[in-house]
Amino acid sequence: MTRAQETLLGVSGLRKAFGGLVAVRDISFEIRRGTIAGLIGPNGSGKTTVLNLITAEFPADAGSVRFRGEELLGRRSFEICRARIARTFQLVRVLPGMTALENVMLGRMFGAEPARPAPAEHEAEALIARVGLAGRAHMYGAQLTYIDQKRVELARALATRPQLLLLDEWLAGLNPTELQVGIELIRQIRKDGVTIVMIEHVMEAIRALCDTCVVMNAGEKIAEGTPDAVLSNPQVMQAYLGTDTGAEDAAA
Ligand code: ADP
Ligand code: MG
Repeated sequence: MTRAQETLLGVSGLRKAFGGLVAVRDISFEIRRGTIAGLIGPNGSGKTTVLNLITAEFPADAGSVRFRGEELLGRRSFEICRARIARTFQLVRVLPGMTALENVMLGRMFGAEPARPAPAEHEAEALIARVGLAGRAHMYGAQLTYIDQKRVELARALATRPQLLLLDEWLAGLNPTELQVGIELIRQIRKDGVTIVMIEHVMEAIRALCDTCVVMNAGEKIAEGTPDAVLSNPQVMQAYLGTDTGAEDAAA
């Protein structure tokens, strides 16, 4: 098997219940190295919970998450980061009392290849520019717009030097021009050798970027395949149309 075909992430039988609500029910999928995979489905279908289980926000009830062949479940979040998995958050988590630059420096200083402040600052400056924050590096997290906070999160995630990047609706809220820039940025990150799993509702981005999609509904995987195949799948369309979200996108 060539390196490009290698399974980087293997999720198997993953389950998580919150009280009586089963948010993730027996989810299995594999992500090949060098690909971009979409994790899609209506709101509340369990997508963010899958990312939270992979990154050890809370423990899984059952299942397995193997990364480069090694089991991740049972490890702590900082160990997942050191193993070279980084993420952004649907509800952004920028440190409000630190500048954009300092937020990104932290990723480098405490990530998979910890660096001292001086080289970390140098690299953080480059990442700040790369995500479109040039000129705002010294603004505090709390002063930044929501979109700029998301840019900080992406730069901070990249600063940790990930092999796998997990994006949770990172493109949501961008205007049409920003969306094209964002799509190109994600494409470049993949070209740099980073494998990407992206939760996304923007169908244009999914079609433009994803090699494969895993579709969830009510905690279960209901389809998997190329964007064209899954988005024309009647069961998938029904899942979107059965809710208030995504219906227009799914029908488009
Ligand atoms: P998605 O990201 O697909 O919109 P989520 O994974 O956020 O869905 O949520 C799936 C379900 O699990 C929802 O019903 C949500 O309310 C519930 N849920 C998610 N996280 C928690 C939590 N920490 N505690 C309790 N319920 C949660
Ligand atoms: Mg979510």
